[in-house]
Amino acid sequence: MGINKLKILKTAKTKLNNEIQLIATSEIAKNIPLVIGVFHGDEPQGKFLIEEYLNSELNQTHLLFIPCLNPDGMELKKRTNSNNVDLNRNFPTKNWGENKGDNATCDDCETDYYGGTAPASEIETKFLVNIIEKYKPTMVLTLHSPYKVVNYDGPAKEIAEKISKIIKYPTEGSIGYPTPGSFGTWAGIEHNIPVITLELDEKTPVETLVPPVFEIFKNLS
Ligand SMILES: [Zn+2]
Repeated sequence: MGINKLKILKTAKTKLNNEIQLIATSEIAKNIPLVIGVFHGDEPQGKFLIEEYLNSELNQTHLLFIPCLNPDGMELKKRTNSNNVDLNRNFPTKNWGENKGDNATCDDCETDYYGGTAPASEIETKFLVNIIEKYKPTMVLTLHSPYKVVNYDGPAKEIAEKISKIIKYPTEGSIGYPTPGSFGTWAGIEHNIPVITLELDEKTPVETLVPPVFEIFKNLS
């Protein structure tokens, strides 16, 4: 058996003319797990780890990857995209734009939690919504930092516990405050897709995260 050949299934150009890519590790694209890096531009670990994995010779797995969902934010070294929108508050949830709870700043474009002018107003959000609708992933793992926790939304308790054992961070069923427009609310709670928000340690050198994160990728499918 040889190494699977990577396939770029879909791309989009951002406002700053960066490319977002959806990559499959095999011929299979539908009904398999999806892994997403760099939801937030100032959390670059996911892109490094996914690219290391895709360049490794062990990907006899059937997985979808978006190595970097927010390349504009990464270029600008900030959480939001180039319209100052927090992508993780821009999804078309029933409570999009509602301001309740401690982090109720999603209608304030001066904050890092601005939800945008409308649900799914952003290119990056539309790209991901289209992928979820077309490829119907069985679960979604998003790579964030720095909280060292395995957060989950929707029917993802079991997979969260499996990941927790590998990386030795605790699981957490809810982040503790309402997150209107978050991906976890939209995909996990409203569409019943298991969603894991893996908050990686940002203090440790990213290379040390390679073994546990590869082990997690291998255990998703
Ligand atoms: Zn984040």
